[in-house]
Amino acid sequence: MIERISIVVPCFNEEAALPFFYEELESIRKKLEQADIEYIFIDDGSKDQTLAVIKELAKNDEERIRYLSFSRNFGKEAALYAGLQHATGEYIAVMDADLQDPPELLPEMLSLLRKKTYDCVGTRRVTRNGEPPVRSFFAKQFYKLMNHISDTEFVDGARDYRLMTRRMVKAVLSVSEVNRFSKGIFSWVGFDTYYLPYKNKERIAGETSWSFWSLFNYSLDAVINFSDVPLTFASLIGLLSFFVSILFLVFIVIRALIFGDPTAGWPSLVTITLAIGGLQLFCLGIVGKYVGKTYLETKKRPLYILKETDQTNRENK
Ligand code: UDP
Ligand code: MG
Repeated sequence: MIERISIVVPCFNEEAALPFFYEELESIRKKLEQADIEYIFIDDGSKDQTLAVIKELAKNDEERIRYLSFSRNFGKEAALYAGLQHATGEYIAVMDADLQDPPELLPEMLSLLRKKTYDCVGTRRVTRNGEPPVRSFFAKQFYKLMNHISDTEFVDGARDYRLMTRRMVKAVLSVSEVNRFSKGIFSWVGFDTYYLPYKNKERIAGETSWSFWSLFNYSLDAVINFSDVPLTFASLIGLLSFFVSILFLVFIVIRALIFGDPTAGWPSLVTITLAIGGLQLFCLGIVGKYVGKTYLETKKRPLYILKETDQTNRENK
């Protein structure tokens, strides 16, 4: 029996990388045993010629290439979700378009899944060569922190790149929250995952769309989506400052009893007011973050809006 692997590829401004990507995967496809590939390219509102490049590729390989195009940039998470929804294969892979996820691992991933012990074969970078050291440092700290404050496991260096069985993808799709952090969701749904280690690769062409701040925001998403420890932290700080103030009160009363009350202490008063005010605002901010996320979640807006797909284009012909 020939099995089908769907390859979900989110693309944002990837006109330069896509031809290399397709070529590389085609050479892998020919080496696969008893398996064929279905490509699902998701054009995430690219500003360049990405969609045109995809269409050009699709023209020559109508049977295997499918695509979805968003009405604007909805982000990689939305693109992944759309791709998983539209994939039809027995096995489904998610892969970046820039060849940073080595396609040559695919045959090994496939044979591991076929043994039926795992539902997912993920990949883990063991080096971070070619990445700014500051970014690597913060990434490391992030994983450490997340594993402390969340019940969900976050594997350091794990990529989104993975091959999954259909039942795992079904589970991932059933998590339909708007604020998505896929790495967490993949882990949260359970199923046994095997991680293949590999050495980091630099992107083949084009530029990364992640700045330091966008990564920072993304990690905040992860914290808020997978942990409520910051909320506990807020009440802990409140409790702590309450106890400190009680101690202080006792101290002041005793001092007044012994030495009388010379009405000094304006500076200390201001300091205390400022400190408590600051803490209150800080905690309010934490609570606000969660309320904001809840607000977005309750709107139940769709995760993405399609502009066109290979299907619509076929119908128009
Ligand atoms: N991507 C996307 N939408 C976005 C940003 C990125 O679909 O808004 C895609 C991008 O085209 C690539 C993948 O997500 O296929 C990973 O992006 P990138 O290579 O920029 O991230 P990095 O590898 O630097 O973490
Ligand atoms: Mg990349």
